[in-house]
Amino acid sequence: MHPILTVGSVAFDSIKTPFGERSRVVGGAATFFSVAASFFTDVRMVAVVGEDFADEQMQVFGGRRIDLTGLQRVPGETFRWKGEYNFDLNSRETIYTHLNVFDQFRPVLPESYRATPFVFLANIHPGLQLEVLDQVQAPRFVAADTMNFWIDGTPDELRAVLGRVDALVINDEEARQLSGEANLVKAARVIRNMGPRLLIIKRGEYGVLMTRDEAFFAAPAMPLEDVSDPTGAGDTFAGGFMGYLASADEITDAAVSRAIIAGSAMASFAVEDFGLDRLLSLTQDDVRRRFDAFKRLTHFEAL
Ligand code: AMP
Repeated sequence: MHPILTVGSVAFDSIKTPFGERSRVVGGAATFFSVAASFFTDVRMVAVVGEDFADEQMQVFGGRRIDLTGLQRVPGETFRWKGEYNFDLNSRETIYTHLNVFDQFRPVLPESYRATPFVFLANIHPGLQLEVLDQVQAPRFVAADTMNFWIDGTPDELRAVLGRVDALVINDEEARQLSGEANLVKAARVIRNMGPRLLIIKRGEYGVLMTRDEAFFAAPAMPLEDVSDPTGAGDTFAGGFMGYLASADEITDAAVSRAIIAGSAMASFAVEDFGLDRLLSLTQDDVRRRFDAFKRLTHFEAL
């Protein structure tokens, strides 16, 4: 079992979906990732919060396998984001993004983090992702997330990141934008040529498509009757995926496929309630049962 280092946002989120509304709840890509991954292994977090992030909010990390030595608390306000979802929950509008303390953030890895073998660069400025990569010593497996904002805004720095990662986790729209190809199989080939051997394309309620070298593996999303809020589902997927992989002995095709199911299982919990709420009440037993439900959902006997 190996520890994972992650860098990304810790946030106050405000969320509106057709099923309800929440204001100023703890969110952020690094938060969803770390809580999900901590079900499988130890997580070392690099992030920043403001003075308004009180002990009460810190409790979401308490009692979990999450090392906060690299979480900076600085004067100013915590990163804030507001999103509003349409009826089908597959499209959302960002109402605002206030970078606040993130504006001046420079990731500094504590000495105890530098030799971490698994690294997840959550969705932040690719320049900061590079700064983190410059501070880690020969990691065994590095994965990154990104978004349309960086694909358009900082293409050169993003290309430099892609040249240095083993895996990229993005959604279908971003895969098309990054590759300039509408067809996802062609898009995957173009993106793999940019660097990452392993590409995971998240397709919301349609599940995920993974390609590693020339092979493909796909997983559906769990059919759920109650879906409240998809915020953080992608980061939660990444947490389950990386957490499982870091807890496996070797990175084989079989381990990668199981990691995709672990990620899908964790993401299926995240959407059941608002923000982090469902993940915070989750038990290891719940995770095992959902993993088994995925096996039943996808298993069939060939003739
Ligand atoms: P997801 O639904 O997987 O896209 O992740 C949503 C989470 O990402 C929310 O908790 C937000 O706080 C966070 N987030 C949204 N926009 C950004 C951004 N530009 N940089 C970093 N984190 C963000």
